[in-house]
Amino acid sequence: MIMKKKIVVIPGDGIGKEVMEAAMLVLRELDLPFEYIYMEAGDECAEKYGTPLPEETLQACKESDAVLFGAVGETAADVIVKLRFELETFANIRPAKSFRGVKALYDNVDIVIVRENTECLYKGFEFEFDGVAETVRIITKKGSERIARFAFELARKEGRKKVTVLHKANVMKKTCGLFRNVCREVAKDYPDIEYNEYYIDAACMYLVMDPWRFDVILTTNMFGDIVSDLAAGLVGGLGLAPSANIGEKHALFEPVHGSAPDIAGKGIANPTAMVLSACMMLKHLGYVEEAIKVERALEEVIAEGKTTPDLGGNLKTMEMAEEVVRKLREGLRA
Ligand code: ATP
Repeated sequence: MIMKKKIVVIPGDGIGKEVMEAAMLVLRELDLPFEYIYMEAGDECAEKYGTPLPEETLQACKESDAVLFGAVGETAADVIVKLRFELETFANIRPAKSFRGVKALYDNVDIVIVRENTECLYKGFEFEFDGVAETVRIITKKGSERIARFAFELARKEGRKKVTVLHKANVMKKTCGLFRNVCREVAKDYPDIEYNEYYIDAACMYLVMDPWRFDVILTTNMFGDIVSDLAAGLVGGLGLAPSANIGEKHALFEPVHGSAPDIAGKGIANPTAMVLSACMMLKHLGYVEEAIKVERALEEVIAEGKTTPDLGGNLKTMEMAEEVVRKLREGLRA
């Protein structure tokens, strides 16, 4: 008997629920040996149970082979940021890749952002007293080294040529200085991969003017959060941007976007980011062929203009997912 992989599914709030339903339709079509365990977290969960991340949800995530996460609203810091810390998923991988048929600022962009996921200003060390507020930025040698190695290993595995470190060590001499110095050291172990660095502000300009100079971007938590939205904007918006959170023991996959209250409930959210996040999960679990099949089906659907309104089409979220399923079935028949 095949042991089924345990996949914890957390739809969350707003469009998280809608895009998750779409991704699940596609995943179930593949008929893989997965057991899907639905768990609650987020704003609605907080209203119902008084906590946005119940202990049972956290425990289920810890016992799973992978977590598939939609999006949560106001409680994001207490849910997704906490989950990343609790599961010690120290690497956040956010690819930004051009899609055939998507009108975007540029074509042929293919960047992977590797963002440190457990340190920096998002650690939550905040204080306020007598009109003064502070947020403490934590960067460690150990944390910097493990994310740097992860980025270079990813570059090797994916046949990529260059790792670019984004930092601001001229101003934040201690924290960014430590991060950059560790990255420089790690780079010496990977002579086959080109290494370079930019200040984060200059990098934002280059990303907008000349995104092709980037291949793998390696950076700290908050800079990574910001540049990944910027990079998503270059290739067609948040509706297309997937991500993976990888640790030594756990892995969680989620779209870069949030719960998008402005479009929630309308059934028009683009399911692509969620479906591509599911594909990253499939690859992580060793189902590479299946992931590529889904990516191709999605690419064709988008190229044919069968999309949600954010990409200029007039399909609903579930209709777009049904198109992907139809393509998969056509592919299976061929
Ligand atoms: P949250 O507070 O949950 O992060 P938000 O609205 O601040 O929500 P996002 O959810 O990331 O942030 O959305 C930012 C913008 O991108 C919104 O205008 C939203 O409509 C759009 N957007 C995000 N995801 C999608 C999607 N899947 N399809 C279409 N548009 C999207």
